Order: sequence, then structure tokens, then C-alpha cells
Amino acid sequence: MMTEAQLNLAYLAAAALFILGLKGLTHPRSAVRGNTIGALGMLIAVAVTLVDQGVMRIELIALGLGVGAAIGAVLALRIRMTAMPQLVGLFNGFGGAASVLVAGAVFFTAMQVAARAAGAGGGVIAVTPQESIATAASGLIGAVTFFGSLVAFGKLQGLVSEKPLRYPGEQAVKVVVLGASLAAAVMIVQTPADTGLYWVLAAAAGVLGVLLVMPIGGADMPIVIALLNSYSGLAAAATGFVLSNTVLIVAGSLVGASGIILTQIMCKAMNRSLANVLFGGVGAVVESAEQDDLYAGKVKQTSGEEVAMLLKTARRVVFVPGYGMAVARAQTAVRMLTEALEHDGVDVQFGIHPVAGRMPGHMNVLLAEERISYDKLREMDQINPAFPQTDVVIVLGANDVVNPRARENSGNPIAGMPILNVDQARTVVVIKRSLSPGFAGISNPLFAADNTLMFFGDGKQAMEGLVAAYREA
Ligand code: NDP
Repeated sequence: MMTEAQLNLAYLAAAALFILGLKGLTHPRSAVRGNTIGALGMLIAVAVTLVDQGVMRIELIALGLGVGAAIGAVLALRIRMTAMPQLVGLFNGFGGAASVLVAGAVFFTAMQVAARAAGAGGGVIAVTPQESIATAASGLIGAVTFFGSLVAFGKLQGLVSEKPLRYPGEQAVKVVVLGASLAAAVMIVQTPADTGLYWVLAAAAGVLGVLLVMPIGGADMPIVIALLNSYSGLAAAATGFVLSNTVLIVAGSLVGASGIILTQIMCKAMNRSLANVLFGGVGAVVESAEQDDLYAGKVKQTSGEEVAMLLKTARRVVFVPGYGMAVARAQTAVRMLTEALEHDGVDVQFGIHPVAGRMPGHMNVLLAEERISYDKLREMDQINPAFPQTDVVIVLGANDVVNPRARENSGNPIAGMPILNVDQARTVVVIKRSLSPGFAGISNPLFAADNTLMFFGDGKQAMEGLVAAYREA
């Protein structure tokens, strides 16, 4: 056992490490260090709690840690980068489930103790209002998180249809289930002796989680996952109140706050409100007739050899990667072309849009895998002023994040979204398989612009062809 002062000091150190860890995670260069610092904080928090609680069956805990660590390590090593959002989603879900189970276990134990005391003629207060409110909150938020995350995982993994599931009376159904969940939560607070109510609450909240996520399109899932991450933090904080455990309250609050901040950043970068993501049902707006008018006779096709010749005369080249680079896994060829260009004295940079790809930091992670230096990566505000002085921009599998229609005031899904102004460069080479739209489902006038050349093909094959042509040119 530890004294309260020792325990609180250790928890304070853990909380400080969590905050330093989060600070590290704000930049790719310090992200790995930030992760390690946060993990160290968690190790301290867990170890100190076990010692304080005088846990005897340490071998069971070691076994749990070993199994968990093995599963985590195998998953982390084997998972494809494009499947990262659903893995994070699943982890959030487990956090929610843990909150439901831990809060429930404490609640049931308190009831049993009270029942035994009552049987022995004693009058014991089973749970305080703080504990019953926190238990109801853990059960409610935790179950929404767990079941919502399972649906998000299913949509991204292709197990559940990615399409938004809309139906008549959808909002009314959600309101009824929300009402049932809240009623169960209130009854738990009023009559905490009825433990069955806890399962009713968890079941109703689970249905609510499914209903909330089903109407959201698969491509919006990364935002939903950031939001569910925030919920899992809130559930953990509530469990911290159930257990009267300071460090769990702090850690849960930090996760809750950072999740909601990330959700906001993503919504802002897409110029959408959270309400539009949650209730908008954005899926696939495809405007084929309008597209024909826009592109007819104006699209200029190019080849690897032609682009290689262009690059041979370029002094400054900017790559703009997007979702297609991730799908095609073209980043190795990008690194090879970067090395070849730099060898010839060309200044090479990368323009990274905050929502390029399908998860925050998607492009940074793929380029970091190839050990492309962070010094070459430029955020949108840094790179935009440089496009007019850029000889060639290679847009690789990006579409919405370079679509000039975002500059329109309204009337399309990306109107008002900040974009990379690649159209201001001398020549723009767009590598993609067809003229198909991107996530927003709208045409892109960039493809028909005078200074744009379309290099049609799979991102990886096209880039490999380009590397070979450049070396031969
Ligand atoms: P987009 O989704 O706009 O476009 C991707 C393009 O990649 C498509 O037009 C497609 O064209 C092309 N592509 C697909 N497969 C390949 C391939 N194998 N080889 C070459 N090209 C390929 O991507 P962006 O990155 O420009 O924009 C991201 C979009 O996703 C934004 O609208 C953003 O709001 C949204 N989003 C982003 C999130 C994030 O956190 N980053 C989260 C949720 C949504 P074609 O089929 O012709 O090849």
C-alpha cells in the first residue's frame, strides 16, 4: 500500500507525462517521442494503481498484459496503413467496452456488499450519488462508443455497407432510443439497488450507438472515429469518478478533449460542420452530365516519357499526394523519383493538405515510412505562396484537395474548403486512373485546365514508369 501523498504524486507525474506526450504528438518529428512519453505515463499510472490496491494475483495481470501486448504488437506490425482508421476505431470501441464493464463491476460489487450488510442487519449506503451518476454515464457513453465503433469498423472493413443508411422517421427513432437510454440512466441514479437496469441501459445505449453511425457514409468514418475516440475518453473519465481514481479522470478528460479537437480540425479542413457529418449522409454525388461538358475536348493526356522530359528542365518540383497514392502504394516510387531529381539538383518539396487521404496525417505517415525528410513536407499555408514559382506539380492520386471548385461560394460539397492552389504552377501533371471524381463526388476543372497534363494509370505503375523514363531521359 502507498500513502495518499505518494499515490497522488505518482499520478501527477503520470498526468504531466500524458500532457507532454500529447504535445509531442502535434508534430510528425516529435510524434514517436510523444507516444513513448505517453506510454511511460500510462505504465506509471497502471503500476502505481496495482501497488496501491495491493493486487495479489500479479501473475494474472502479467498474463493479461502479455496477451494484450502480443495482440497489439502483431496487429500494429501487420496492419496496412490504409486500414489504420478501422484499427483505431476498434481500439476506441474496446475502451468504451472496458468502461461499461469496469463501472458495472464496481456497481454490482457495491450492491452485493450493501445486500450482505442489510442481511446482517446493518444499514449501509450502497453507492453515493456521485458513483451512481458516474456509473450511469459510463454505461451510456461506453456502450454508445463500443457499438458505434463496431459499426464504424464494419463499414471501413467492408463488412457493413459503406452507404449511409437513411430511412423514414430516422431522427424520431433515434430520439426514442436516446430517450429510453436517458430514462434508464435516470432510474439507475434514483434507484441504484436495481442492478438489472444497468444492462437495460447498456443495451439501449448500444442500439443508440448503432443507429447513430449507420446513417453516416463510409468515407466520413475517420471523423466519426475521432468523435468516438472523444466519447471513449469521456466514458473512461466517468469510470474514474466511479472508482475515485484521479489519473483515470485526467487521462479520460485528455482523450475526450483531444478527440473533440481533432474532430473540429477535420471538419474545418473539409469546410463542414459536425452536424453535416453526423446527419448529412454525404455519400456519392456524381454529376456525369456536367462532367462531360467540363472535360469534353479539353483534357490533355500525357505519358511517362513526356513528363520525364518536363522534369529534366525543371528547377523546382512539388509533389501533392492524395488518397490514390495510399491506395496504389506508390510512395516508394515517389521516394525514388525524389532521389533522382535531387541528384540532378532539382528542389523537391511536398504539399500536404490536412485532409488528404482518409485519415489525419495519412500522407505524413506514408512518406515517413519511406524516410522522406520532414524538411521537405510543407503544410498548405506554407506551400501555397510557392506554387506560382513552381515548374512542375505532380498531383498523385489527389483530387478534392486540389479542386478549384472549392473557391466557389456555395453550390457544391467542397465550396469554401481551403485547397492547395496547384493550378497556379507552370505545369500540373495529374496521375490517376480516370476522370472519376474523388470523395466529394464532383467534377474537377483542374483536369481540363490549360496548364494541366493528365497521366492516366494506377499510381504505382505510373510512378514506376516515370522513374524509369526519367533515368533514361
Ligand atoms: P480524393 O478522394 O478526392 O481523390 C482520390 C483520387 O485518387 C480519386 O479521384 C481516384 O481517381 C484516385 N485513385 C484511386 N485509386 C487510385 C490508384 N490506384 N492510382 C491512382 N489514383 C487513384 O482524395 P484527396 O486525398 O484529394 O482528398 C481526400 C478527400 O477525403 C477529401 O474530400 C476529404 O475531405 C475526404 N476525407 C478525408 C479524411 C482525412 O482525415 N484525411 C477523412 C474523411 C474524408 P481514379 O479513380 O480516377 O483513379
